[in-house]
Amino acid sequence: MDLSIIVPLLNEEESIPELYAWITRVMTENSFSYEVIFVDDGSTDSSWNVIEKLKSDAPETVKGIKFRRNYGKSPALFCGFRMAQGDIVVTMDADLQDSPEEVPEMVRMIREDGYDLVSGWKKKRYDGKLSKNIPSKIYNWTARKVTGIHLHDMNCGLKAYRSEVVKNIEVYGEMHRYIPFLAKNAGFSKIGEKVVHHQARKFGKSKFGLDRFVNGYLDLLSLWFLNKFGKQPMHFFGLWGSLMFIICFIAIIIIGISKLVALSHGVPARLIADNPYFYIALTGMIMGTLMFLTGFVAELVSRSSQNRNDYKIEKELV
Ligand code: UDP
Ligand code: MG
Repeated sequence: MDLSIIVPLLNEEESIPELYAWITRVMTENSFSYEVIFVDDGSTDSSWNVIEKLKSDAPETVKGIKFRRNYGKSPALFCGFRMAQGDIVVTMDADLQDSPEEVPEMVRMIREDGYDLVSGWKKKRYDGKLSKNIPSKIYNWTARKVTGIHLHDMNCGLKAYRSEVVKNIEVYGEMHRYIPFLAKNAGFSKIGEKVVHHQARKFGKSKFGLDRFVNGYLDLLSLWFLNKFGKQPMHFFGLWGSLMFIICFIAIIIIGISKLVALSHGVPARLIADNPYFYIALTGMIMGTLMFLTGFVAELVSRSSQNRNDYKIEKELV
């Protein structure tokens, strides 16, 4: 099979039939063999009935997963990725904001230009709100700096992947925003970008609020940390804990010595316990020690993780 198209959705009953008809048209025009996997992320409207109806009309093409409750877009993509059988996997939002017309060119970029992943770039966005567009620019700039991947629109819902990519990454939590980073960390570094048409939402409203930016930044921080120190947390906690301890220890010695020097010269000096720097240095020593010990705990956690030896092997000769 050429293509698996994965559509995560939450309460999008009005859009699904139109989206499906559009996908079908583009797929037939380009004579792709394909499957469409709808992942219903715990909708409370009639989205699932709509999907069941499509399934009964086209049992070979339509596949569906329904979550018992709303887990989020990342879990929906995860389950879709697991089910996908096509050589190329495409993800697309259900709200008709992403256009299926972009898919053939993305597929060509993967097949002919050798990309592992092609991400959409909503160069001209139709989300209508400045409150979304401007933070999104800042956010993408930070994401570029942290991940080293030069994408203008990391979180675009429209993306195409070589199937090995989605089988080798694990999207969880809200990490769908950083799939290119997950892919890069799994060794798929040929990441391309294609400008895509974006449209205003036709039905319903956006399922993500402004908290996406706060959560997005926190997730970016976690991913950066996990990627750099996940397998050797002591390299982080040990270094900074020791540094903090040593600097503060030296500070305390200096405080002590200066007191002794003052005494030996007969200069009146205050008690060490009256010196505010003493308390700052003491707190620093305690924090440094705690950080160091956290490093041990983190090592225990990471050593006992089940996938501590989970390497992405590309080829093997035996
Ligand atoms: N979505 C989902 N689970 C959620 C939230 C959203 O499956 O918990 C789907 C939603 O139905 C849509 C896609 O993710 O197909 C993108 O969501 P939305 O259009 O609300 O985001 P925006 O376009 O505003 O970034
Ligand atoms: Mg949308």
